[in-house]
Amino acid sequence: MLDERRKACLAAMGIPLWELRRPASVESPELPAPPPEIEVEPPPPAEPPAPAEPARPAPSASDPSVLDWDGLETAVSQCRACSLCETRTQTVFGVGDRQARLMIIGEAPGAEEDRQGEPFVGRAGQLLNNMLAAIGLSREQVYIANILKCRPPSNRDPRAEEVVACSGWLARQIALVEPELILAVGGVAAKNLLDTDQSVGRLRGRVHALGEAQVPLRVTYHPAYLLRRPEEKAKAWDDLQAIWRQLRGEAVQ
Ligand code: SF4
Repeated sequence: MLDERRKACLAAMGIPLWELRRPASVESPELPAPPPEIEVEPPPPAEPPAPAEPARPAPSASDPSVLDWDGLETAVSQCRACSLCETRTQTVFGVGDRQARLMIIGEAPGAEEDRQGEPFVGRAGQLLNNMLAAIGLSREQVYIANILKCRPPSNRDPRAEEVVACSGWLARQIALVEPELILAVGGVAAKNLLDTDQSVGRLRGRVHALGEAQVPLRVTYHPAYLLRRPEEKAKAWDDLQAIWRQLRGEAVQ
């Protein structure tokens, strides 16, 4: 929820609160009355069973692109594709609106996320919530995920082989959400998603295109970095306003 200062700030700028994209669900119609009971004739003698169809393999974790949300979440929770499975408390899948217009991607779970099983909690998560609130979005109206689903020990940076091992899960999440815009927060997320060595300072301020689907992607600072460098918050605010304008359909760069 917007705090009073943000509300006053946004009201002064003429920025309306964000509205949910989808209408509220419609009430279910009343069920029809059950049919009257009828007498049932005994079934004819059973025919010999048809030969069983050969068993089809279940959707495999080796091909995340065939998985639905439930299958994907289960497969991630059981993933042992890299050594981070040995040290995690639990996987951190993602949270939020699975049909969100805006998807936020960070780097990896920290200690608190590993404990709670949810991305962007603690002080950095609270700042992210405030950043979203500043453009009229709640945490529940976006989808939040990380490049890695398991915490690297001692919060070290993800290793290249871990990012590769985990990339199929994130790619499937992006495909299922189909966001209009992705916001990569922090250098690790931005560099891995865009396959570049450029800094956040050079990557922010413009629209990139992610993958074959060319999903528009913007870059901004990680909330944990902003907690350490509050003087950079003004730049993050510029990024947020650009996102807000882009989601309103305004031409932005
Ligand atoms: S970080 Fe990703 S690839 Fe590695 S074990 Fe966790 S879910 Fe699997």
